[in-house]
Amino acid sequence: MKIMARSGDVVAGFSGGYALGLDIGGTKLAAGVVRSDGAVASLLTRATGAADGPERVIARLLDLARDAISETDVASAQLAGIGIGCVGPLDSVRGVVQNPPNLPGWLEVPLVARVEEALGLPTRLENDATAATLGEFVYGAGRGCGHMLYLTISTGVGGGAVIDGVLHRGRTGNGGELGHIVVVHGGRRCGCGSRGCLEAYVSGTAIAARARERLAAGSPSSLAALPEVTAADVAAAASAGDGLAAELWEETGDILGSGLAGLVNIFEPEVVVLGGGVTRGGAGLLDRVRESALARAMPAVARDCRIVLAALGDRVGVVGAATAVFVNSSTGLR
Ligand SMILES: [Zn+2]
Repeated sequence: MKIMARSGDVVAGFSGGYALGLDIGGTKLAAGVVRSDGAVASLLTRATGAADGPERVIARLLDLARDAISETDVASAQLAGIGIGCVGPLDSVRGVVQNPPNLPGWLEVPLVARVEEALGLPTRLENDATAATLGEFVYGAGRGCGHMLYLTISTGVGGGAVIDGVLHRGRTGNGGELGHIVVVHGGRRCGCGSRGCLEAYVSGTAIAARARERLAAGSPSSLAALPEVTAADVAAAASAGDGLAAELWEETGDILGSGLAGLVNIFEPEVVVLGGGVTRGGAGLLDRVRESALARAMPAVARDCRIVLAALGDRVGVVGAATAVFVNSSTGLR
């Protein structure tokens, strides 16, 4: 997908109008009507209920989509199309969701055809992190740049890259998995089946697991009093001065920075945008990541690289999905 050289131009190139953005996650569905300047006219969410299987989840998604449209005074004729961001793997060229581990029972589901048939609008499918990358590039923290990396760090670690104004999607839309670069050879087992991936250390799930292991090994900490430790608990305890939590949080920043150093060396981005719940945990994470990444990356590459927090917050899912429609309709490329 060719966008344009600078993201600011892309926004200016849109011809007005709206798109419907849909976001399908393992735990949450979201639907929203988004204006071509990035403003969100409606935003609705509900639980995915993934265990119910694809038919019931698609029915829920379509209900949510209809509600998101009817909440606004936007007519169907004003909608340029529908963008769907979905957990992968998927085939964005064929519009098919393949077999995401977080959506049990989805095997080669022709989602684009189903949504087009039900709602009567041209529809695009993107990996959710790829769509979010596009949203941050056009409307968020990457606005005005030509080279951007995006990582979203929550339950897992998703990512995407914009290279000289072009969104990198790979052959079928599954490329840009920046969370699965190996940072520790033979390290922790990752959900993708490999070992030592960035995700296996810095995702919310991995931070909680690392904390539990340290507690089980007898490290003293205020976390030991909690029935179940989450990444948010670790961040809060680190801010409150708990020694073990602070150590875990610093390690997380260091490891994330090591991974970013490798990515920065490869891509030489102007900006690295970090989103997702873990990055909102505070406790000096961003400073630690910057320090770790920029100390390790090659000086010529690191010198002018900025590492910043994402700007779109909870809107990124629907805005990113809608952006895929705007970019497509403004360039005519699929
Ligand atoms: Zn992995």
